[in-house]
Amino acid sequence: MSKRILPPVYEPKEVEAKWYRFWEEGKFFRGEVDPSRRPFCIVMPPPNVTGELHMGHALDNTLQDVLIRWRRMQGYATLWVPGTDHAGIATQARVEAELAKEGLTRHDLGREKFLERVWQWKEKYGNTITMQLRRLGASCDWDRERFTMDEGCSRAVKEVFIRLYEEGLIYRGDYIVNWCPRCQTVISDIEVEHKETPGKLYYIRYPLAEGGFITIATTRPETMLGDTAVAVNPEDPRYRELIGKKAILPLVGRELPIIADEYVDMEFGTGALKVTPAHDPHDFEIGQRHHLPAVQVIGFDARMTEEAGERYRGLDRWEARRRVVEDLRAQGLLEKEEDIVHAVGHCYRCGEVVEPMISKQWFVRMKPLAEPAVAAVEEGRIRFIPERFTKIYLNWVKNIKDWCISRQLWWGHRIPVWHCADCGRSTAARNGLDRCPHCGSSRVEQDPDVLDTWFSSALWPFSTLGWPEVTPELKFFYPTSVLVTGRDIIFFWVARMIFMGLKFMGDVPFREVFIHGLVLDALGRKMSKSLGNGVDPLEVIESHGADSLRFMLVTGSTPGNDLRFHFERLDGARNFINKLWNASRFVLMNLDEEEALPQLDEVRLELVDRWIISRLQDVVERVTAYLEEYELGEAARLLYEFMWDEFCDWYIEMAKLRLYGADPEARRTAQVVLKSVLGTCLKLLHPFIPFVTEEIWHRLEPGSAPLIVQSWPAVEEKRKDAAAEAAVGMLQEVVRAVRHLRAEMRVPPGKRATVILVTREVDKMRLLEEHRKIVESLVAGELVLKEILLEKPVNAAHAVAAGIEIYLPLEGLIDVEKERARLHKELKELEEELSRVRRKLDNPSFLAKAPAEVVAKERAKEEELEKNRLSLEKLLSFLEGV
Ligand SMILES: [Zn+2]
Ligand SMILES: [Zn+2]
Repeated sequence: MSKRILPPVYEPKEVEAKWYRFWEEGKFFRGEVDPSRRPFCIVMPPPNVTGELHMGHALDNTLQDVLIRWRRMQGYATLWVPGTDHAGIATQARVEAELAKEGLTRHDLGREKFLERVWQWKEKYGNTITMQLRRLGASCDWDRERFTMDEGCSRAVKEVFIRLYEEGLIYRGDYIVNWCPRCQTVISDIEVEHKETPGKLYYIRYPLAEGGFITIATTRPETMLGDTAVAVNPEDPRYRELIGKKAILPLVGRELPIIADEYVDMEFGTGALKVTPAHDPHDFEIGQRHHLPAVQVIGFDARMTEEAGERYRGLDRWEARRRVVEDLRAQGLLEKEEDIVHAVGHCYRCGEVVEPMISKQWFVRMKPLAEPAVAAVEEGRIRFIPERFTKIYLNWVKNIKDWCISRQLWWGHRIPVWHCADCGRSTAARNGLDRCPHCGSSRVEQDPDVLDTWFSSALWPFSTLGWPEVTPELKFFYPTSVLVTGRDIIFFWVARMIFMGLKFMGDVPFREVFIHGLVLDALGRKMSKSLGNGVDPLEVIESHGADSLRFMLVTGSTPGNDLRFHFERLDGARNFINKLWNASRFVLMNLDEEEALPQLDEVRLELVDRWIISRLQDVVERVTAYLEEYELGEAARLLYEFMWDEFCDWYIEMAKLRLYGADPEARRTAQVVLKSVLGTCLKLLHPFIPFVTEEIWHRLEPGSAPLIVQSWPAVEEKRKDAAAEAAVGMLQEVVRAVRHLRAEMRVPPGKRATVILVTREVDKMRLLEEHRKIVESLVAGELVLKEILLEKPVNAAHAVAAGIEIYLPLEGLIDVEKERARLHKELKELEEELSRVRRKLDNPSFLAKAPAEVVAKERAKEEELEKNRLSLEKLLSFLEGV
């Protein structure tokens, strides 16, 4: 067997491993600085080093890979920078869990030893996700793989921190944060899981200084010990005359001002709010607006502090809650309690109830940084795709608050600031500090906190290219071309990269932001561990191959929108790849091994050749235009249709006559066209399904450069042929009409028929005459061409297509008697089914009880059955006349 012949069945597993190794070892992914070419650079959103590939990554990285492979073929100097994020809390938690199995905590090891353990863990498990990205086919430059805590990125982080600090853009201040008493760290808002939890709403009477009382509702009565005001809505008529008066805090006796603040919800509880700036984020803000003191009554260990008073200090917060309620009840101040279900914040990693706390944190002053980040987008220097995300971005950046960047963790970039125990001053230092520059004391200690993970990923577009060094890569590839990311992290990440890039590079980090949606399950739910509805991309790659997964994800996606994961669609993608495989196998089997084929220009093309080549020009043009506009799904869908329908189902069938015929020149022409069109299709499909296309390419063009570096097809204007498209379009119309008649009349497939075509138009007649053999092979029959019909053929089915009268005499094709009996039976069954559906739809209790989608389904069924009934009746009445 020739080595060009493809095996009958495509086996993705072997093929994918082979080609990935070939590309990676052959350095085909390498991004080179090459001033003679235009740069195209993408930095990969770094997945967590603890991560494993999920469907979101699979989609995100497939889209990036399509763009990179396409631009590489277009001749750009492409660079796709891969890397991972150190993922502070997630990674630290992994290692702490390992230690816990040995009965140890991180404190037993101490900071230094613990960090050693984390690095060991990273060396051992940190490349899981990058290996998985290889399975997906990601053509990133692994020689430039980065890690947010590698030496270069760490240097960039330190440099940025110190420059911002020296400019006064980083400061330390009090802030209300989400504190996990078990993890002993601040956690960010996105790390807090709000769970619906049963609880109680307590109505507490606060006596008024002038007599009487005001009732306040709260779910956390223990925090009242830290109240410093009572707030009401200024619009609330119930409390208008109380504003400016005083209430007395029960159990404590402190005088509380009654203040007016628009934040207060008149509908909640009694419309009066206790204000505890130290233990509630909204109260913290009210406190700032009204200059209220903050009294911390719960400690970082979740026990009550000295400030809580003698009776409560030292108690666990839940115990304190019980005692406060008990005491209020005893004093007759508890008006009532209601059972409620409300959202309570839990730590995403340990499940503990989060406690809002005020603590000393580091902040980035956002206003001066945000302004240029707004301007860059408003002036169009960065474009969002789809455009609607521009508004969301601008809205967020314009309302941005100072960014709390410190985390009470050990794993991460430690804040490069040293505090002096003697003079109390703090100093930022690039290279460490052993003496205080202010007082000379050696009692200096580095700040224990580390930076928010997003701080280092905000620098990713330039830190990965070598900043603060001015490397050739940085000069050539920055600003990067496009950022591809999910719609869920526009705020946290995209906005921060934009202002950091503008601040430190003086230019935007990327020119375009291509946003995609989430991958949902078939029912439209988010894939999640707790629902157990996630689909593992690695399992899909095992069962269907990476190309199928990629093709399914791309064809299902539209910019900005979520996509649902359907296994049927995955099978559809696999069927397409098999179709491509089989068509290629057919073409390869019909190429003559020994002979070098002439070029397209050297053969005399027939009409159908000119047609498929012209159609291909249109496909090249539109696919390229779609890719330019980030309509990757449209591009893939178009290729699917062209390949399946026009190339396989039409052109290959049309070419068979010549391939199997006796004329060697005609055979050669068909071979040349088949090979050329297939080759171009492989190039167009390569970015989407790189493995199978590369495999076929090497059989089709043995000895030529691999497909990954072949040139992207260009539109050849001279190959566009409107006349050929119109002519073949007419032939197709006739063929379709005859096929339709055959199917309608239930003529067994393959049974030779006589087809009478009648037209007085000379051009059409000539075209039909010239392509008689092709049409005959496509309709499995003999054509009888007539200019005029003196007498209508008897017992013939009739249709009109492209202005041509078509008759299909049924004599000898079907047994009319038998067919009639069969149709009667079929009609009877159909009518029974129809009346059953109708009875159901007439039944008011079914209509009342059934879910809307079930009713809709029945209605659709009714419509479908009615349509079938009509066409059966038509057919029967035709056969009755025969
Ligand atoms: Zn926790
Ligand atoms: Zn000092």
